[in-house]
Amino acid sequence: MTKIPKIEMQAAVLVKQLRPLELIKVKLPDKLYEGQVLVKIGYSGICGSQLGEIDGIKGPDKYLPHLLGHEGSGVVLETGEGVTTVKPGDEVVLHWRPGKGIQSATPKYHSSKGIINAGWVTSFNQYGIISENRLTKISSNLSSDILPLFGCAATTALGVIENNANLLPGQNIMIYGAGGIGLNMIQLAKLKGAKNIIAVDLHKNKLQLARECGATHIINTSQVDNIRSVISSLLGSDKLDTFIDNTGNTKVIELGYDIVASTGKLILVGVPKKDEKIQINTLPLHFGKQMIGSEGGNCDPHKDIPRLIEYTETGKIDLKMLISQIYPLEKINKAINDIRTGAISGRAIISL
Ligand SMILES: [Zn+2]
Repeated sequence: MTKIPKIEMQAAVLVKQLRPLELIKVKLPDKLYEGQVLVKIGYSGICGSQLGEIDGIKGPDKYLPHLLGHEGSGVVLETGEGVTTVKPGDEVVLHWRPGKGIQSATPKYHSSKGIINAGWVTSFNQYGIISENRLTKISSNLSSDILPLFGCAATTALGVIENNANLLPGQNIMIYGAGGIGLNMIQLAKLKGAKNIIAVDLHKNKLQLARECGATHIINTSQVDNIRSVISSLLGSDKLDTFIDNTGNTKVIELGYDIVASTGKLILVGVPKKDEKIQINTLPLHFGKQMIGSEGGNCDPHKDIPRLIEYTETGKIDLKMLISQIYPLEKINKAINDIRTGAISGRAIISL
């Protein structure tokens, strides 16, 4: 057990589902257990998963009240017993996919609202006790506000394009939902040499950004009546090799299943609400069509984060483009609202 100094911090806490996050003073535990790492968090991203947690899409949440956020960046202040992959002073990315190192016990924080629970990684808090295997040490000259994207958005995008889609040069891909992850997928599809990259969204500002990221075609669903005919006239005699759904909308998933080539892949990244179901005829699945539920792109943080940093440093991808706005922690509910309304095109970053 490693003693740590008394720290009180500001954190955005999910106290009740379907309510704004509450900004409250939270006390850290005074010791680190095996595999735990104390991190001063600099920036955090907000992703669809946290919106889903707030909305309760998976049903009742037995851990309330709790911290949240699963992509961030920061500096290691102290390490618990057994930690070997990071040391005090290291700059780190916080990620939700497990990587190298120990998976520690989860911490419990204290506040005037009682105990505040937390998972192996949380990032809507100024300091965090993070499990060693949710941290990756990095060394780069990139500005630290883009680093959170390596914790979820960029690694998921890379994993979906490489591991799930196995996208090859000359293939055609449709990316439905052009938010932070979708825009990064477009950049990566371009990097892989895809022929037609079709971005679909209902927000004009996102589609504009999609074009800048490398989409060869854009479809604004708020302006088309029959999306199927638009797609077939776009593709002509080409077939659609990959359809990625980032929305979790069951109608979009059904559309993707129908229009992807008979040997193509439908990849599910967005998650439907708990009770929602899709209706498909499974026959094509016996003849080469594939439907894959992506688990964060099955990426390996310790291998993929350094690669993505190299891609960013050498200009192969541009993560700065994907960040629409940086909000102070006190404005986190405004940031969440701006994501929901589509007022911002890319990722919202929280400065802690
Ligand atoms: Zn995420």
